[in-house]
Amino acid sequence: MKLIDAHIHLSDEEYSKCVHEVIAEAKSANVVALVSNSMDLKTSVESLRLAEQYSGMVYAALGIHPWNVNVLTEEELRRTVELISGQTQNRALVAIGEIGLDSKYEKIWDKQLTVFNEMLRLAEKLDLPVIIHSRGTTAQIVDMLPSYKLRKVLLHWFSNPISALEKALEKGYYITEGPPTAYSNGIREVVRRTPLTKLLTETDGPVRFYRSPFNGKRTTPAFISTVVEAISEIKKIDATIVAEQIIKNFEGFFGVKLD
Ligand SMILES: [Zn+2]
Repeated sequence: MKLIDAHIHLSDEEYSKCVHEVIAEAKSANVVALVSNSMDLKTSVESLRLAEQYSGMVYAALGIHPWNVNVLTEEELRRTVELISGQTQNRALVAIGEIGLDSKYEKIWDKQLTVFNEMLRLAEKLDLPVIIHSRGTTAQIVDMLPSYKLRKVLLHWFSNPISALEKALEKGYYITEGPPTAYSNGIREVVRRTPLTKLLTETDGPVRFYRSPFNGKRTTPAFISTVVEAISEIKKIDATIVAEQIIKNFEGFFGVKLD
């Protein structure tokens, strides 16, 4: 049974000293592909480096996360756009991400909007899928995305509202869910309502999960098998079939063929 982690921050500093170990853990847990999501220019450069070092296993999603907008300078934004634009021939670049809006960072709302729109324009121009963070903003984002011609949309860690889920699914968007699928009723409801053909798995590591069975351990792609088992239980579909379909979804979404 092959598995995938469509959303991990491998370029995060917390992983910098153990990235080789994390990749080894992924391999021994049958995780065959990881998408290293970026937060800013520095982590975008690092995601590209990791995708080169672990070619065929690590793929890169590049962009500016809404949390990083407060320290973002014009110069960094320009250089990030330049970096991404220069990678169009690089097959390891599979998406623009992680980008989005976060309602908890109200003070920098206008700047969040400016940067998010710039990232969406870039995704449209380069014809790349987008990976979206939408805490407290999902309904708004689902309404604003149709003004762009986007190749594909992935709403990461979708939690609420259910009305926005319905709209997103109608538009053909994909959803990724991670370790909370094992314990959160809200996430389980999202999984239940999302067709298996639109679902991907993620860890969002190094974010830690304190509930059982994860208990605050360092997040690793090896957690994915627990996520797949939870999806299998919720949907009453054999875990092998769930895993196979998720591999197909990954290939279709990111446009890569996994060995
Ligand atoms: Zn993330």
